[in-house]
Amino acid sequence: MAHDERSVTPQSEDFSAWYNDVIFRAELVDRGPVRGSMVIRPYGYRIWELLQADLDGRIKATGHQNAYFPLLIPQSYMKREAEHVEGFAPELFTVTQAGGKELEEPLVIRPTSETIIGEMMAKWISSHRDLPLLLNQWANVLRWEMRPRMFLRTSEFLWQEGHTAHATAADAAAETMLALGFYQDVAAETAALATVPGEKTPRERFAGAERTFTVEGMMRDGRALQAGTSHFMGTNFAAAFGITYTGESGTAELCHTTSWGMSTRMIGGLIMTHGDDKGLVLPPALAPYQVVIVPIGRGEQAATTASAAAELATTLRRAGIRTHMDDRSHLSPGFKFNDWEMRGVPIRLELGPRDLAAGTALMSRRLTYRHSDAAKKAVPLDAAPDLLAAELAAFQEMLARRAADFRDDRTAAVNSWPEFAAAVAVGWALALHCGEQACEDEIKAETTATPRCIPLAGEPEQGTCVRCGKASAYGKRVIFARAY
Ligand SMILES: [Zn+2]
Repeated sequence: MAHDERSVTPQSEDFSAWYNDVIFRAELVDRGPVRGSMVIRPYGYRIWELLQADLDGRIKATGHQNAYFPLLIPQSYMKREAEHVEGFAPELFTVTQAGGKELEEPLVIRPTSETIIGEMMAKWISSHRDLPLLLNQWANVLRWEMRPRMFLRTSEFLWQEGHTAHATAADAAAETMLALGFYQDVAAETAALATVPGEKTPRERFAGAERTFTVEGMMRDGRALQAGTSHFMGTNFAAAFGITYTGESGTAELCHTTSWGMSTRMIGGLIMTHGDDKGLVLPPALAPYQVVIVPIGRGEQAATTASAAAELATTLRRAGIRTHMDDRSHLSPGFKFNDWEMRGVPIRLELGPRDLAAGTALMSRRLTYRHSDAAKKAVPLDAAPDLLAAELAAFQEMLARRAADFRDDRTAAVNSWPEFAAAVAVGWALALHCGEQACEDEIKAETTATPRCIPLAGEPEQGTCVRCGKASAYGKRVIFARAY
């Protein structure tokens, strides 16, 4: 059987090699010619489109509108907000020539769009009646990456960036949490990820933000992945770009702004949350194909089962189930089974002459594809749409539950350094910390773990730092983990 040549490195042996095997063999991506660039192939791009449509719906349902801003930004814009330019300087791509001539002012390729959107907001907002201004953009951004990894860290990536302006700090704070909620919901309901929403510690904040919130997901190697972030800017960008409004009393007031983003990184999170040693495992909500039908039979029988399979595929598609019929006649059923297993299709249906005679198809679920025939289930063809819709919903729920159980099993509240080191070796540590940078640096040097977030749901707690014994900061426990 062709399976062995196509098998992937086991996760337990080398998680990073496993990840690379899966993304290339499942044909999600290819390497671009420029270092750190990524070609998203059709199968991977379809996952992005499904994620995008889901998130876009949530963004629009809450009154935000999509717009598009230019890729090139005058360099002077980047310099207006001091922390912003300092934070992004090491990652910037700068264009110094165009049309064969040196430019008078260099242009930067957007690493994010606060500056250009801030400039336009200043122009568009004049009175309190113009507020709130709720914008979102779907775009690519570029940030130079020293150590690129497909989906997780590439020099160019796709994302959405929300940018909003408000009259009061309270309104902007509420918006920041609303956007964080989008990410939490997409992660849980659509991607079936197990995440924890929380606030970033000062050093992990977005450059120029007053507060940064994050949704951190746990991957199957115990590491954390930031699945989306939402920033409360206060009046920092409004002051730098002159985003003001005339209040009811007639005086000019600075707006309060926010920004928030989710990117193609999320696909990396999806792969590392659900995948196993057989390949991808896709939650039905984001699977390009939710069901694949493999017709089986030789000679004359092949034509009969193929036409029945095509008919079944049409019926399922009409019922809103993304279905693919694998009619590649030069490949064996065994090869096809392995191929779709690698690509993470949630449900496979086999349709052979005996099944057809019985009016059924033989169903296998992705996590038990290769188990004994007992794990397979005969699905009556005339009831297939309803039964499969229910199976897909159950599969989605099972993946979410499995991810949540895994996160809970691998998260430990710790009170001593040995406990801390043991926890971050396999998962997340919930610990009291002094909040000092030198102490964070020591922890990172010894364990590679960093503070991921202060969970919103954490109980108030004071005590001593798990590392240095000084008084704890933040008033709550902090999640420390190795991170992507
Ligand atoms: Zn400390």
